[in-house]
Amino acid sequence: MSKPTVALMGLGIMGSGMAQRLLSTRFPLVVYNRNRHKSLPFADAGASVALSPREAASQAQIILSMVADDLASRAVWLGENGALAGASPGAVLIESSTVSIGWIKELEAEAAQRGCNFLDAPVTGTKPHAASGELLFLVGGSTASLAAAQPVFSVLGRDVIHLGPVGSGALMKLVNNFVCGVEAASFAEAMVMVEAGGLDRDKALSILNGGAPGSGILKRISERITANDFTPNFNLRWMAKDLSYALDSAFDKDIVLETAGAALAVFERAVSQGHGDEDFSAVVKTAAISTKPKTGRSTA
Ligand code: NAP
Repeated sequence: MSKPTVALMGLGIMGSGMAQRLLSTRFPLVVYNRNRHKSLPFADAGASVALSPREAASQAQIILSMVADDLASRAVWLGENGALAGASPGAVLIESSTVSIGWIKELEAEAAQRGCNFLDAPVTGTKPHAASGELLFLVGGSTASLAAAQPVFSVLGRDVIHLGPVGSGALMKLVNNFVCGVEAASFAEAMVMVEAGGLDRDKALSILNGGAPGSGILKRISERITANDFTPNFNLRWMAKDLSYALDSAFDKDIVLETAGAALAVFERAVSQGHGDEDFSAVVKTAAISTKPKTGRSTA
């Protein structure tokens, strides 16, 4: 059976890996990126380069967006030159960026007006998983749309989890990253305590990673601390974005995520100190909080 043509919008850290993977598995591919320079290597590797999302979408049966946030997603889907304007009725539209649930619901309605199928399919996994086809897709939408998108998911992902109607994938992703963000922020504060107390850093890392607090997030951050390398796999500013969307979506359900609020404050401080474009693990550089006024145990 011939492979569907895929339009991929967004050639950042994740999108570029996904594009490489689609090309290496011989999918006909059209790419679009706001900054055109990032498209050039893919033209050399056999992709068509579109000058607008509309042009990319008009050539494809499966249209996938992997961009930064709600603003970026609106920019690629909407408007005269947006992908929706170019998509053929019956095309499958996939939003894989981590975006808000409110925007996903709006986009679903826009896709329906156009006669297109729509899935929200954010991912877990990071830069190497995108390039090697080992992402985990968290999918919301109809079973029929999922079946139509399956050929693409099966080369980009190690697995696909269908969570329910449109919006379910986005919700699960925000819950996932809320937990990751809180863990990262608390670990960063823990490392400040380790340093301030004069403990041996490597012993502390070994105890935390080998004991009950050990997790994938702690392991990833510990490796970055040890190597003193904060080259981004996942930009710190996007963790702040995800915490903020998680807080908003909880608020819409009358839930207050207190720990997400605290973690967001830590990540926003890191962004304001210039670490937004480093890996999220760079949060360890900035977790120190002023001791005045004293918040510890009172001696009075
Ligand atoms: P990235 O490297 O920062 O790339 C962002 C992409 O969005 C670039 O292609 C950028 O285009 C585009 N973009 C930004 N603003 C735009 C706008 N206003 N209009 C059009 N395009 C715009 O980010 P990434 O790491 O690939 O992440 C992409 C998405 O996946 C995010 O939602 C992120 O939260 C999520 N995610 C990331 C990871 C990870 O480990 N990296 C893991 C899971 C999920 P330019 O090149 O023109 O700036």
